[in-house]
Amino acid sequence: MKRISRLGRAFLVAFLLSFSLAATAQARPLPGPDVQQIYQRLLPQIEQIPAFDHHAHPGFSDDPDVDAMAAPPGASAPLRTRDDNPELLAAARALFGYPYSDFSPEHAKWLVAKKAGLKRQYTGSAYFNMILDKLNTESSVANRAMMADYLDPRRFPWVFFVDSFMWPFNNQRETARNPDERVFIPLQEKMLHRWMQQENVSILPPKFSGYLEFITRVLVDNQKKGGIAMKFEVAYFRPTTFSDPTREQAEEIYRHYASGGVPSEKDYRIFQDYIFRFLVQEGGRLHLPVHIHSAVGIGDYFNLSQSNIMNLETVLRDPRYGGTTFVMIHGGYPLERPAIWLAAMKNVYLDSSFGELAQYPAAFKDALKMWLETFPEKITFGTDCFPYNEVLGAEESYWLGAQSSRMALAAALAEMISENEITEDRAMELARGYLHDNAVKLYEGRVH
Ligand SMILES: [Zn+2]
Repeated sequence: MKRISRLGRAFLVAFLLSFSLAATAQARPLPGPDVQQIYQRLLPQIEQIPAFDHHAHPGFSDDPDVDAMAAPPGASAPLRTRDDNPELLAAARALFGYPYSDFSPEHAKWLVAKKAGLKRQYTGSAYFNMILDKLNTESSVANRAMMADYLDPRRFPWVFFVDSFMWPFNNQRETARNPDERVFIPLQEKMLHRWMQQENVSILPPKFSGYLEFITRVLVDNQKKGGIAMKFEVAYFRPTTFSDPTREQAEEIYRHYASGGVPSEKDYRIFQDYIFRFLVQEGGRLHLPVHIHSAVGIGDYFNLSQSNIMNLETVLRDPRYGGTTFVMIHGGYPLERPAIWLAAMKNVYLDSSFGELAQYPAAFKDALKMWLETFPEKITFGTDCFPYNEVLGAEESYWLGAQSSRMALAAALAEMISENEITEDRAMELARGYLHDNAVKLYEGRVH
């Protein structure tokens, strides 16, 4: 080997150093040829980060408490979320060693039997803990109507639903609005009834102050039961533009309709606007972060323009709610580009769940990259896993969501490194933030 003189070597080092400094000094618009290699290097490191899944619906397919909602029969599903997505075969193979290349009824029986065997082996809460271990997920939010005794509360912190407090009156007109509401609104009535049962309240309190006290009792009791946040999915039921009525206005409507009668749409909305703001304020006072569904939703009648995440901007940027932590579930998808600017507010976070399932990793990577380049410390990972049916459960959808997110994250960061935006160390810091640290921090030590 040809020897380089000591001086020559020093010169070379200085030259390379100045070159690399120059290279990091300015970002470039295209990734270099090294982007593939960087991706391959990052992915296994990213797979080793224990994750905190900030939004998920774990549970078995025959468990009606997996969600406070249900999909209307025959609702359209975007391509990748259909249960014939071949990627679910990869999920079943990775998690359970599924040996077939289709889900024909005959083959599907194998998977059902395999899971039944594992449930006998991993009894109680051990089964879903084992699934989390396989995904390298340390903890996963369980956004469920009620908690299940087969989920370990230490690894599945509960996020409960609060929309039902906005629907206490005769909902005849609301239910008749369209076929989706015919499914949704009765479920809200049922949920309100369950909260009433929990608090031993048999009829709506006659006074408005009593109704507000009842709401607060539910929040406090749910928090005692392990609830870490409250969740709104109000976009499914009405527009997300909220007026700012006085307590007296809401009180008068309550006095009128608590014991019966169908309120006008205008009156009902005014009442709901007040209750929504009351809950948001209580979330601040009780240190109970507020999760809000902020994306498209299931059901063919879901009105995206009326539930556009930016409708909530006036609430999120209202200094009166500065003490409330907001998590915008699904990050406004498909409006994630304007949505990231809401995270300028110190108390507003964006969750990426569903985006990683509705899109393929190539598209999700671009969305995540844009977020990482804007407010990287305000974004959190979630899968929005859900049991599809008896064969394909929350397990497979957990796997697809987690895998897709980790791959898209590695790809986004690889591009950012290759484009001279960040160093590899910084990339791993951002990865840990997105997959775990950012979410865990906002619960002030109540989750891990
Ligand atoms: Zn969800």
